[in-house]
Amino acid sequence: REPTDLNALVDEYLRLTYQGQRTKDKTFNCELVTDFDGHLGKVELVAAEMGRVLLNLYNNAFYAVGEKQKLAPAGYQPTVTVSTHQFDGQLQIRVSDNGTGMPESVKAKIFQPFFTTKPTGEGTGLGLSLSYDIVTKGHRGSLTVESQEGEGTSFVIQLPALS
Ligand code: ADP
Ligand code: MG
Repeated sequence: REPTDLNALVDEYLRLTYQGQRTKDKTFNCELVTDFDGHLGKVELVAAEMGRVLLNLYNNAFYAVGEKQKLAPAGYQPTVTVSTHQFDGQLQIRVSDNGTGMPESVKAKIFQPFFTTKPTGEGTGLGLSLSYDIVTKGHRGSLTVESQEGEGTSFVIQLPALS
């Protein structure tokens, strides 16, 4: 564990993951919106592990906007919004997308190992269960989800700040 500049980590993984998507699909044109809290304290974390969590949330978000784009009316602008926020000794990272969203029946199972709605070869269903363990067991934080089918999804990571 090391005191980490969370904004830098969040931003670096966002750019890297986006580049990865663009390499796979040259036409992928998601807008990235960031809103970073400039007063964020450093946070004690295992940067490589939190990086895996971010990578997974971003990949899921890019996938969801990509799927929606296949069905969406012209003028749909795929957008992934990432923000950080500090309050009451807690650090919050929010990853939002305006992709497919999910029905309640899916939302209820997403943290279970091997649960995936993706075709074979496109998802292992391990990303969110691993992410949940890293955030809750590894970092004493929480990982929660809000989603509206057809509208989009937000994941929120909350971590205790370094005092
Ligand atoms: P995988 O990505 O391999 O399917 P995950 O554990 O990362 O496994 O996610 C499990 C499932 O949760 C996905 O298959 C998908 O149904 C749902 N999901 C996760 N993130 C999103 C998102 N941003 N938008 C819509 N559905 C999502
Ligand atoms: Mg995933």
